[in-house]
Amino acid sequence: MESKDNLVELRSVNLTYNRGKANAYHALHDVNLNIKKGEFVIILGPSGCGKSSLLNIMASLELPDNGTVMIDDVDILKMKAIDRTGFHRSKMGMVFQSYNLISTLSVLDNVALPQIFVNKRKREREQKVMTLLERFGIKEQWKKIPSELSGGQQQRIGIARAIVNDPSIILADEPVGNLDSESANNVMQIMSELNKEEKKTIILVTHNPENVDWGTHIVHMKDGKIVKEEWKDSKGASREVETSMEAEKSGFEKIMEKFRGLSEKQIGILMEPLKAKIITESFLIPYENRQIKLIEESIKLRLAGIYDTRTLMEQLDKNEEDGGVGLDSRIAKKFSFGIDELIDVAKKVFGQYSSREKAGFALQYLINQDDINIGAEDFEKVTNLIQKRIENQISHLEFKDLLDLPNNAGGVGLNRRTVQKILRNMDLILIVGYGLEARQ
Ligand code: ADP
Ligand code: MG
Repeated sequence: MESKDNLVELRSVNLTYNRGKANAYHALHDVNLNIKKGEFVIILGPSGCGKSSLLNIMASLELPDNGTVMIDDVDILKMKAIDRTGFHRSKMGMVFQSYNLISTLSVLDNVALPQIFVNKRKREREQKVMTLLERFGIKEQWKKIPSELSGGQQQRIGIARAIVNDPSIILADEPVGNLDSESANNVMQIMSELNKEEKKTIILVTHNPENVDWGTHIVHMKDGKIVKEEWKDSKGASREVETSMEAEKSGFEKIMEKFRGLSEKQIGILMEPLKAKIITESFLIPYENRQIKLIEESIKLRLAGIYDTRTLMEQLDKNEEDGGVGLDSRIAKKFSFGIDELIDVAKKVFGQYSSREKAGFALQYLINQDDINIGAEDFEKVTNLIQKRIENQISHLEFKDLLDLPNNAGGVGLNRRTVQKILRNMDLILIVGYGLEARQ
């Protein structure tokens, strides 16, 4: 499968941390991946699935146990370590979640740093840096140190630093993981421009499915493996190759399979502890690992009706020293109200209403969510599909296709981001609602 236009080719790559020791961990299993010049690749998957490991192998920051890693037709595992470093420096720029800026250096000096290795004159270097700062809207801040800037601004410095030596490949590990949605959007926009206008190949890692719309080649990972790949052409039409059948089932369907043969009431009760976990994950807030358990506990209490909206909000907001979760107050508020709306719609969808009314409630909920754009002219079609999905007359995959396909192919022709969001939110409604009625 050698192909001239592959910029990156991975063949049967395995990676084991602490190899040969008692705590050995097999992080990547037989990974095969081709990346072509000019692609905007998004590597998507849950925390711990091996995304950073894979990126670090492409960056030659980690060496695999075996397999081949070709970058621009060069087998980098056959290089001497010192040549590999030079190769990395001349071809790749890296962007990190935590920005990795040097706290004591000015914005200008941070961005200029990689240029020190390429023998340019100081004036020339600084001019180049100022042009980049201007382009990213942070020129006025050139004298400041990183901590004086917002997260979004710091990440733009990180990107400027990554591209100052004109690399052809940009590797970004959760670059928007610490940013609010507006700054995240701005950073993704910059990445997209670097891809489209400067033909840079971007390889970006994220755990957040909301970011996939920016990509042209989506690589789905799970448990150290690539389970699915998708490509989008310039018109937005997509083509998928599945490595594993599991990937296309919805979260709801996967859960139901585990419980096959049980009564609705039994399933409802068994699902109870999962619900809090799934809701927590769905909010995609960049919290620390140690906070997750506390958030889940609080949501369980909310679902059980022990906490009301205000108590949940206070619990999420309160400092950790005082037994709370320590979230930003605005996030705590958004979270608590978001959960209320979700419980409310789930109760209706599983309540004593006609199928038509249920679908109407679900539609109302969906169009109130950010990033879901359904034109009034499509309400009728979408409501019909939601109704069929609630009644389980169509599978997750059929539901997806019918929302996604263009009108002339019998679909509603919604944009991808909207389709993804509808799928995720419908799953949440079904998961949260299941068993509510049976227990009451
Ligand atoms: P992701 O970026 O998808 O969250 P990683 O690639 O960072 O995942 O990690 C994959 C798995 O490998 C995780 O279980 C992680 O704990 C483990 N791991 C990552 N780096 C190391 C390391 N340096 N030593 C040991 N285990 C590691
Ligand atoms: Mg990672």
